[in-house]
Amino acid sequence: MHLVAVGGSDAGISAALRAREVDLAAEVTVVAADAYPNFSICGIPYYVSGEVPRWQNLAHRTRADLEAAGLSLRLDTTARRIDVAARKLLVTGPDGADDVISYDQLVIGTGALPVRPPIDGLGELGPRDGVHLLHSMGDTFTLMHTLEETAPASAVIVGAGYIGLEMADALATRGLLVTQIEQLPEVLPTVDPELGALVHAELTRREVKVLTGTTVRAVSKAPAGRDGRLEVTAVTAAGEPVTCAADVVLVVVGVRPDTELAVSAGADLGPRGAIAVDRMMRTGLPHVFAAGDCVATYHRLLGDTYLPLGTTAHKQGRVAGENAFGGHREFAGSLGTQVVKIFGQAAARTGLREHEAKAAGFDPLTVASEADDHKAYYPGSHRIAMRFTGDRQTGRLLGIQLFGSKDAEIAKRVDIAATAIFHSMTVDGLSDLDLSYTPPLGSPWDAIQIGAQDWIRVGTATERSC
Ligand SMILES: Cc1cc2nc3c(=O)[nH]c(=O)nc-3n(C[C@H](O)[C@H](O)[C@H](O)COP(=O)(O)OP(=O)(O)OC[C@H]3O[C@@H](n4cnc5c(N)ncnc54)[C@H](O)[C@@H]3O)c2cc1C
Repeated sequence: MHLVAVGGSDAGISAALRAREVDLAAEVTVVAADAYPNFSICGIPYYVSGEVPRWQNLAHRTRADLEAAGLSLRLDTTARRIDVAARKLLVTGPDGADDVISYDQLVIGTGALPVRPPIDGLGELGPRDGVHLLHSMGDTFTLMHTLEETAPASAVIVGAGYIGLEMADALATRGLLVTQIEQLPEVLPTVDPELGALVHAELTRREVKVLTGTTVRAVSKAPAGRDGRLEVTAVTAAGEPVTCAADVVLVVVGVRPDTELAVSAGADLGPRGAIAVDRMMRTGLPHVFAAGDCVATYHRLLGDTYLPLGTTAHKQGRVAGENAFGGHREFAGSLGTQVVKIFGQAAARTGLREHEAKAAGFDPLTVASEADDHKAYYPGSHRIAMRFTGDRQTGRLLGIQLFGSKDAEIAKRVDIAATAIFHSMTVDGLSDLDLSYTPPLGSPWDAIQIGAQDWIRVGTATERSC
């Protein structure tokens, strides 16, 4: 039995490793267009910042580890076409020569590509001019070349989603003057603006200049004699023009699924043009599975959606690898659980925000709350800002958003909420959980239980007044 995984990142490698666990005699080949199999691209910002000193440290496993696990690696090799009927994959190798690989089962893990927004000049200017996109190790090396060889003093980051924020932190930590430009009214648009405003304040406190409600229109080389090598022109929501000078421009405005290989083989597409798969990660094409950022993801509260995350890519790859060898595992579903560090703070969310819950047919109520991460009499306590969303009719917990110090165990707390939502618990049920306590680390009622009780109090009062 021969499994071929296309893609050497989270999804492809997870599928390949699981296949070898399920069947030690399996022949497993990974075909990857680049030379960096199993690298943690989530760690790129920390290599750019200098906190991770060597790019090699970003490898989840080395090439030798992967080969020792029984994987055969075909690197710098691009999969061009799938002959579904004949179960053959046409590839182009590092020397430019075409080759055909026969397979019994195929897993497509081609991931995502960075979105190029409609900005004048983006097509003409590239890394040599100081204009960068960021998704792969290759992108990282070109960015690092610019940072190390041209010693830039300033950067404009287009986009203030979680990757844009991590890169603002990274470039400011390297000593660059950073301007962050976001088209939407607040940074980190995946949380409510009330929490986005707290992230915004942290950026400002760290001397990142933040322009929200501002759309970048053009990037061009700066005229001689001006500050910076590049000029970024933008327009505010009120129509006011804005011009910023910068030595580096980094465009990080999201990703789109890389589906060319699957589409040319006849695969169906789902939300946002991602490959449609069932919960066993089957594409509908015989013997062809798909996983990771290239597929439409099952969300436990929303059904099929597009939610590209490393956590999800690992799980889906594992499911695909197991099922390719006769397993019957289903991907349990995502809740979009996410956490991001911005300088000394962290923001997290899981489940649904109010507008998402409403659109999904719930009767949501969102309540804001605050609590200490541990007993305030013990030194070093921090306030945590919380937003709880629950369903008024059933009391079911639907979503939670948190913001606080990176030392306030924000990730642990969002994960407790994710576990509760995963198991369809009520807000009240969260308050009943037996969670740990000692004054330097917590409170008899954990912060999220205080948030849950605030939700119940407001929810009950709203009910009475109706
Ligand atoms: C800077 C950054 C930070 C991130 N931080 C986080 C985080 O903190 N938490 C989180 O959950 N997620 C994070 N993510 C997202 C996460 O990295 C992705 O969701 C995850 O890597 C997706 O894995 P994947 O295997 O589906 O695809 P990708 O990582 O996109 O990999 C696709 C693979 O397919 C290969 N490939 C593509 N086409 C072909 C072809 N035709 N032939 C052969 N090979 C091909 C590519 O070379 C690559 O090896 C971050 C992403 C970035 C860029």
